[in-house]
Amino acid sequence: MTNKTMMQFFEWYLPNNQLHWKRAEAQAAELKRIGVNMVWLPPAYKGAAGPASVGYDVYDMYDLGEFDQKGAISTKYGTRADYLTAVSALQQAGIKVLCDIVLNHRMGADATEQVMVIDGLEHNRGQDISSQHPITAWTKFDFPGRAGAHSGFHWNASHFSGTDWDEGTKRKGIYRFHGKPWNRETDSEKGNYDYLMGADLDTDNQEVIQETKNWGRWYQDTVHMDGFRMDAVKHISFAFCRDWISAMRAHKNDLYIVGEYWSHDTGKLTHYLNATDRSLSLFDIPLHFHFLEAATSNGNYDMARLFSGTLTEADQAHSVTFVDNHDTQPGQALCSFIPAWFKPIAYALILLRDVGTPCVFYGDYYGIPHDGVAPVPQLARLIKIRECYAYGPEHLFFDDPSLTGFTREGDAEHPDSGVAVLLTDSTGGSKRMYVGERLAGRRMVDALGRAPETVEIGADGWGTFSVSGGSVSVWVTEPAREYLYLNF
Ligand code: CA
Repeated sequence: MTNKTMMQFFEWYLPNNQLHWKRAEAQAAELKRIGVNMVWLPPAYKGAAGPASVGYDVYDMYDLGEFDQKGAISTKYGTRADYLTAVSALQQAGIKVLCDIVLNHRMGADATEQVMVIDGLEHNRGQDISSQHPITAWTKFDFPGRAGAHSGFHWNASHFSGTDWDEGTKRKGIYRFHGKPWNRETDSEKGNYDYLMGADLDTDNQEVIQETKNWGRWYQDTVHMDGFRMDAVKHISFAFCRDWISAMRAHKNDLYIVGEYWSHDTGKLTHYLNATDRSLSLFDIPLHFHFLEAATSNGNYDMARLFSGTLTEADQAHSVTFVDNHDTQPGQALCSFIPAWFKPIAYALILLRDVGTPCVFYGDYYGIPHDGVAPVPQLARLIKIRECYAYGPEHLFFDDPSLTGFTREGDAEHPDSGVAVLLTDSTGGSKRMYVGERLAGRRMVDALGRAPETVEIGADGWGTFSVSGGSVSVWVTEPAREYLYLNF
């Protein structure tokens, strides 16, 4: 068995040059070589901003860069043919492909309709602040550029439950369509967080339920992906998502699915997992914020509690761990970018511990030229250590507020496996850790090359490892380091 390692293969500020699918195709073999075996690709269908759209402003989910709509045939990332070629190149390299799905909203409608609405309070959506009145809403989607290809479904106001723009008065608001309550089985932030942006799908509408399933089956049959990353699930009826996933698995049963439920509250995440019968995993948002706090506390964070209260602690089998993503990077809405000095520490934790499924951010691996962010050093080497050596029973030494570590004993299936990781947010030091009697008599060295010494593991399976201030050391067997030095 090989450890699963995901990469989020995009960041927000990729150039709008339609070359990203070709880039994914070109990188497939190299990603596999470093140990990535799953990638999450950005939303592939036409957004309201056309070739400048990152993909979350969904216009036409059947237009994968095939029709002249919103200013171009191609999406920001390339054409439909480029996309299908990239997916198949990744799969042929041995990498599973997750496609990004946005089911919450639509934007960039082709025409307006008169709709009766009731205004809600921005910060308490459950509270009405007007009687019913008409607005001019962008809710008609006829996709004239596609002219019925792939699907004849047209969207209109009956398929949505609200919007935030009145074209008649040019006023922003929280406009709930008359006769349509916000779905109560959504996140409770802002009173009720069913509404996020654009024209919000009415997930109680039978035609919407049927059409989203029809589209999902068409998308699977067209792309043959291995799974999904589902956007904004806290804004969508939990039961609707559960049923949609179940319909998708009925079509192709081995889909891997991870949802984005953006909340610091692990209780909300586990509640969502319960409500959806654990049919998907979720990103461990609380862990991301622990990393941020640890990285910005001037060495005063209690490192022993890094995983306390996280989704990974509560349900590691349904946790996707990550350090940063396209929303947390500089300039984005949820900006909470982990400072550079802490990134290798955070990646050693998510990649080498025996919990969760780690997701490496494109912007960390390749850098973010738009903001002058350099790649995280030695990330390929850490990913490779996960693939080759981070196996066997785990022992935690989270017993000190600044100097913590963990070990993996290694196993017989993976030659030269076994890892010892020591890290600190403060001054350096050393620590005795148990790596198992399997490694008794073996010599271990720091694969990141910072600690100069060689540690010989005692007959009792213990060794004394060191780390310098504000960093991480990753100890592997000597032949493992030799291999890593020559290749990564
Ligand atoms: Ca919604």
